[in-house]
Amino acid sequence: QGKKDGRGTYRVFKSAMDLELKARAQLEIELREAIQRGEIEPFYQPVVSLPEKTLIGVEVLARWRHPTRGLLAPAAFIGIAEETGMISDLSYRLLRQACLDAREWPGDLQIAINISPQQFQDRWLCERILGILTETGLSPRRLEVEITETALVQDLEAARTTLTSLQNLGVRIALDDFGTGYSSLYHLRELKFDKLKIDRSYVDTITMSEERAKLVDAIIKLSASLGLVTTAEGIETDASVDWLSGQGCDFGQGYLFGAPMPKEALTALLQAPSDHGMESVAPRKVA
Ligand code: C2E
Ligand code: MG
Ligand code: MG
Ligand code: MG
Repeated sequence: QGKKDGRGTYRVFKSAMDLELKARAQLEIELREAIQRGEIEPFYQPVVSLPEKTLIGVEVLARWRHPTRGLLAPAAFIGIAEETGMISDLSYRLLRQACLDAREWPGDLQIAINISPQQFQDRWLCERILGILTETGLSPRRLEVEITETALVQDLEAARTTLTSLQNLGVRIALDDFGTGYSSLYHLRELKFDKLKIDRSYVDTITMSEERAKLVDAIIKLSASLGLVTTAEGIETDASVDWLSGQGCDFGQGYLFGAPMPKEALTALLQAPSDHGMESVAPRKVA
């Protein structure tokens, strides 16, 4: 009896797994074609300086304009791109497109791009990025590379070399999602970053609890004392932005200032910033 039940359960489980594997395999094929066809498109989220609230740059965030399923968020495809080794190809193409788009924007507008841990291991990362910058004519000083601590755990010395090479080109390095890793202070001690981005999960709660707010305040002070600039991610309310400005946070990003948007929407924003709750567009050098 029990044996039979067990086998039945196993069979159901197995066919569900088969389906999932098939779906993944299908997604992998589709994604490979989508990358080739240029269906992965850069969206741009405004980054503003605080307390002025002037637009100083954008973060590039990938979207898949799927022919039948509509616009897909990174959660639907970045993971599979990482597991299958497609992420580098995807990201270099995205960077190239962002550099081309940026040529139509003010010359000081900063462009930040996310680099996955897998891509960070590419030994030609620096050369590939320089190649794209040269080919598109974007100044390295306009580019910022965002990495998370996951990219750093494998080989600290290799990471140091890569970061330094990029910085020597004039590219800035941001430590993304700060506060979510396991050894944040260790990497801050061992490596030189230009910017620290406080994870949205911290920013979310600053107006809810004094303890949370104290922690965020301490992160801002720590970052400043190490000579880094700080961005708060995921700002959604005026109360948060006022508080963060008051604590000396340098930059802000979040739905309050704008969700990630297609190129045309950003171009419109650059022409009429006040329609978007921004004081002005006065790009200036970040670092
Ligand atoms: P991230 O780099 O930390 O990007 C910030 C994420 O927070 C974005 O989600 C953005 O849409 C979202 N966000 C920004 N402001 C707010 C806010 O006020 N409220 C809320 N609820 N969310 C906000 P998105 O675009 O879904 O991207 C998620 C993650 O996927 C990114 O996190 C990044 O780790 C990864 N990703 C996106 N594009 C790329 C890419 O081109 N390459 C790589 N390697 N990873 C990417
Ligand atoms: Mg990021
Ligand atoms: Mg982040
Ligand atoms: Mg995040």
